[in-house]
Amino acid sequence: MNRTKNILTDTFGREHTYLRISLTERCNLRCTYCRPADGIPLLPKSHLMNFEEIYTIAKTFVNHGVTKIRLTGGEPLVRKDAHLILEKLATLPVELAITTNAVTVDRFVDSFKKYGIETINVSLDSLDPEKFKQITRRDYFRKVYANIMLLIDYGFKVKLNTVLMKGFNEDEIVNFIKFTKGHPVTVRFIEFMPFDGNKWNLEKMVSYKDVMTSVNNGFSENRVIRLQDAPNDTSKNYKIEGYLGSFAIISSVTNPFCDTCNRLRLTADGHLKNCLFSAAESDLLTTLRDGKSIEPVIRKAVQLKLKMRGGMNTLEKLKNPELHEKNRSMITIGG
Ligand code: SAM
Repeated sequence: MNRTKNILTDTFGREHTYLRISLTERCNLRCTYCRPADGIPLLPKSHLMNFEEIYTIAKTFVNHGVTKIRLTGGEPLVRKDAHLILEKLATLPVELAITTNAVTVDRFVDSFKKYGIETINVSLDSLDPEKFKQITRRDYFRKVYANIMLLIDYGFKVKLNTVLMKGFNEDEIVNFIKFTKGHPVTVRFIEFMPFDGNKWNLEKMVSYKDVMTSVNNGFSENRVIRLQDAPNDTSKNYKIEGYLGSFAIISSVTNPFCDTCNRLRLTADGHLKNCLFSAAESDLLTTLRDGKSIEPVIRKAVQLKLKMRGGMNTLEKLKNPELHEKNRSMITIGG
């Protein structure tokens, strides 16, 4: 991986070496917590980055110290040129990763291997087919489950992303952890976060503390092992003694990890977001199409990054719809 003197550093000394690129706003699932109930107005194709623009923008970031790129969406694998994008990005000296709902993963495993993707994050909010259908509004549980098994068989490092919501799946915490007994995956429990149109409220959220209460009720204390978190990790990692896999908690709401944030986000329409929670954006795609350098725009955006959660530095601010509804819905950011 390259190490450059040019690293994108903000006013708090945080070095930005990780870029998440959303390839599309479209998705083959309809998860209620991710998008507004009536959907989103889809942008015309001409407003979205084409594969060459994705490559050019990504390369600029790599020249400025980015060492990891994650593809996300919408669902990144619904893009018709997804294979081509993987092929292009694989020529860059970066760790390439992907977040997917795994509905069509069977069509991509060979490309993932070929283009050096090792870690794959898969969204899975329930182990119960009926509940899966309820939250995603699609009947794809069996397909997704089979594809997760396929990824494991192919030797990918699989992380399952599970957004917890009260009254929906918080009763599955122990079951999800038991799933890691015989499967070498990490289940990551994510606190439900507020975005435009996702009907968030704090009462629906299952917190880090709530997860640990379920863990301590489900397993004897001496079997719960706290693991070392990786640098810049957003999650607190644990495992149950003797289990093949592990579990983790991502507590963006109750215990954010902004101090070590190294992430920048590029939306499918080529806008740079310096924080998941920030409504402010910088339009790199128009700058590129105008034939101008995107570098100063990127630098300025990084300099403007606020210390915590796009300025929503207290729970009170995060709870205020006037603040979090200025941001995009998650389906158009990419998580
Ligand atoms: N389609 C892909 C998938 O399903 O993984 C990638 C896009 S999805 C927006 C990326 C991640 O964001 C998923 O793991 C999803 O669970 C998470 N996510 C979406 N809305 C969320 C919310 N309101 N709070 C927490 N996580 C959320």
